Amino acid sequence: MTIPIYLHNAYLKEAAGTIIEVIKENDQRWQIILDQTIFYPRGGGQSTDQGIIFTDSWKGKVTQALQKDDKIIHYVESSQPPPVGTELKEILDWGRRYLNMRLHSAGHVVDFALYLLGYSPAPLMPLKGDHGKKPVICYQGIVEKDIREDLEKKANDLVSQDLAFSVRLVAHEELEREAIYLQLGLPKNKPLRLLTLNGVGSVADGGTQVNKTSEVGQISILPLERKEGMTYIHYRLV
Ligand SMILES: [Zn+2]
Repeated sequence: MTIPIYLHNAYLKEAAGTIIEVIKENDQRWQIILDQTIFYPRGGGQSTDQGIIFTDSWKGKVTQALQKDDKIIHYVESSQPPPVGTELKEILDWGRRYLNMRLHSAGHVVDFALYLLGYSPAPLMPLKGDHGKKPVICYQGIVEKDIREDLEKKANDLVSQDLAFSVRLVAHEELEREAIYLQLGLPKNKPLRLLTLNGVGSVADGGTQVNKTSEVGQISILPLERKEGMTYIHYRLV
C-alpha cells in the first residue's frame, strides 16, 4: 500500500519514497507505485498533482497520479526506471498543487457560506464539486430567489475573517454527529476525514486544503445555473 503523505501534511513539497512496483506501459511511459507519496491522486473533484521523482542517475516526470485500492499509481514519463526497492526523491509542482488546494478550499468556503445563509443542506443538497479549471459545485434542488450576490458576499466575509481549516480522522458515528450534512455512499467501516471550518461547521472530505481562508483569496460567484432540478454554482478565484 501507499501511505498518502498529502493527507497528513498538505504543505510538504518534497519527500523521499521507495519503489514497490513498476508496470511498463511502453519504453517512455511507466506506472510506478511508491511506499509513500506527496502526489495527490485525482479525486473528489480535485485535480491530480504533477512533478518529478528522481535518483542520482534517473529522473521521471509524473504526469498524473491515480488511486487504485490502497495504492497510488504515478504515471511517469522516463527511460527505464530503477528496480523495486530503490529509494528516490519526490518533488511536487507546487504552483499547480497550491492552486488546486486553493480552488478546492474555495469550493468549501462557498458551500459553508450557503449553509450559513440557510440554503444548504436544504433546499440545496450538496452533491459534488469540480475544483479544476472551471470550478463548480452541484446541488440537488433549486432556489427561486437570485442568491448570487448574497452568496458571494458571505463567502468573501469568511475569507476576510481568516478562519482556520482543520482536518482529523473520526469514526462514522462522530461524523454523523458533527457534520452539517452527510454525502451519500460514505463507507461506515473505516475512519473518515472530517473537515472543519473553525466556528462554522464540518463536512466529510478527502482532499487537500489550505490552512486558512485568507489563503483562498477573493472569490467571485458566476450567475447561478439551474437545470432539471439542479443548481450549479460556478465560482472563480479573483
Ligand atoms: Zn472537498
